[in-house]
Amino acid sequence: MLTALWMQCGACGGDTMSLLGMESPHLPALLDELQVELLWHPSLSNGSPAYYQNLISDLRRGRRPLDLLLVEGFVSTGPEGSGAFDTFKGEAKADILTELAARAGVVLAVGTCASFGGIGKLSEIDAVGLQFHHQQPGGLLGRQFRSTRGWPVINIPGCPVHPTVLKDVLYAACEETAPPLNAFQAPEDWFGVLVHQGCTRNEYHEYRVEDDDFGGPGCMFFHLGCRGPLTYSPCNKILWNNRNSKTNAGTPCFGCTHPDFPQEHPFFHTPSIIDIPLELPDGVDRAHYLAYKGMAAAAAPERLVKRTSKV
Ligand code: SF4
Repeated sequence: MLTALWMQCGACGGDTMSLLGMESPHLPALLDELQVELLWHPSLSNGSPAYYQNLISDLRRGRRPLDLLLVEGFVSTGPEGSGAFDTFKGEAKADILTELAARAGVVLAVGTCASFGGIGKLSEIDAVGLQFHHQQPGGLLGRQFRSTRGWPVINIPGCPVHPTVLKDVLYAACEETAPPLNAFQAPEDWFGVLVHQGCTRNEYHEYRVEDDDFGGPGCMFFHLGCRGPLTYSPCNKILWNNRNSKTNAGTPCFGCTHPDFPQEHPFFHTPSIIDIPLELPDGVDRAHYLAYKGMAAAAAPERLVKRTSKV
């Protein structure tokens, strides 16, 4: 039987909601199938505070094995590196986590906050992710950190994490199969694809048929702040609740899996110069993009311009 501990730091609980919303199999069946004993989860466990305190103490001292450490939320290291903004029984969670991670077989950063610091950047509490601070490697545990199995922290970004991706990574972790990771230590199978790829509005993007208000079928990149062409995430590959995604439903992608999430400028708005977005699709050259989009808009078929194509 493998052991797992879910630790919550600076979090809204959204990743827990994803965990609870898991289906085919649902969470209890998955744990049963993978032979995982969930030692503690703040929303699922009913042990007393004393039980939890003893459990943490045993795990930190190696008196009990810890196979999977799952962390939700950013880690606060402030003020002045003390971690005192977020404590458990008077001890900085940053310190507790560092000790637990050193004993864990696998460490999973569940969600963008645990992976990169996420929304913690909006506060003054010196928030970091487990092994990254936004795009900068390091974070709480440092660039060189490896779990007892020799793995770096596996980042599973998302605000919240996609339940299917979390489930998939759990399978890999329990089968001791290290998933190939991208430059930000997120599984390449899920985070090697752009939100833009698979979006039903792609043809509109191609011909620069754009919407400047909600409710239309056009592309939302040029006016409404869609970050699909800049964001690596499987939202349009596996969909949510097996049926939808933000862009399918007419909401721009907010880029919630990106290490720099949340962005500096307001959502639902695309900063641009002379009507060309400041941030272009990942890897695209500005001069070529300008020429290509100008020609594409001139060649746009009538059915797209008149919005008679179904999306
Ligand atoms: S709406 Fe967003 S994801 Fe969809 S085609 Fe346009 S830019 Fe790409």
